Amino acid sequence: MSVVFSLESPYRGEYRLHRLTFGSGGPVTALVAGIHGNEVNGIQALNLIASMLRLQRVAGTVHLLPCVNLFGAEEARKRWPFDDRDLNEAFPGAADGSPVERIALAVLDASEADVCIELQTGSAAVHEAPHARVPLTGPAAELGRIAALPICWRRSSDRIDDGLVGAWRAAGRTALELRGGRGGALDLDDARTLARGVVRILAAAEHIGSTERPGDGVACTTVHDHRATLGGFFVPEVRVGERVAEGQLLGVVRAPLGGEPREVVHASTAGVVLALRVYPMVHASERLVRVAIPEE
Ligand SMILES: [Zn+2]
Repeated sequence: MSVVFSLESPYRGEYRLHRLTFGSGGPVTALVAGIHGNEVNGIQALNLIASMLRLQRVAGTVHLLPCVNLFGAEEARKRWPFDDRDLNEAFPGAADGSPVERIALAVLDASEADVCIELQTGSAAVHEAPHARVPLTGPAAELGRIAALPICWRRSSDRIDDGLVGAWRAAGRTALELRGGRGGALDLDDARTLARGVVRILAAAEHIGSTERPGDGVACTTVHDHRATLGGFFVPEVRVGERVAEGQLLGVVRAPLGGEPREVVHASTAGVVLALRVYPMVHASERLVRVAIPEE
């Protein structure tokens, strides 16, 4: 493990950006997690990958940056603790900028690769099924298919990918995002599923021998968001990753005190539950359930 960047900090030891590198030469794949400090599933997934790569002869180079926002992770915080800025909004970064901008630039440099993959989770209030977010077509879309996570969301260019993934794409690299779980919580099943998706990509890039069987996820280009029309206490009736039928009960918004039903939420279309509100206190217009609509 090497320290590829460091930064003085005012009240504790210096910040260090760590990178684990396996193999040498090309092709190069870079994996980045923990841009949001509390998104620990990505850290766990990359640590599973590291323990596997240690046992193998790796062709080409695989870089792992398992925890970029280490200070945030220590405090269970998504953002950079000192100024509460979102590191993912600091890309492409600047050498003479604020701390998050300097870290962002260092992450871009340290993840120079042919294929770049970022791992994220939902927010602390939302559990997301393990899924890939990729463009509609091209090499990143193909890698999303190969990862074979439960859902591969092919997104049109009107959904602008900013942050690290957007900066990678702007630099001409093949970039995709793998997401699963929620902020502030370690979900071992989700982390394992994400790691298996990464292994399939590493095998397809011929860094390692193939050890994972193909998965059987669904591809979608369309999602439907069910939102609360009034505030309350949301009790879900489905799980993330579950297939739902049109009209199926998804959950009930209840009175926080007393529990009387205020709003019953039914699936407007058949699909797979991509994201589910798990922190129950909701305000009007907040998203409760996101359903991915599989391609025909
Ligand atoms: Zn995030």
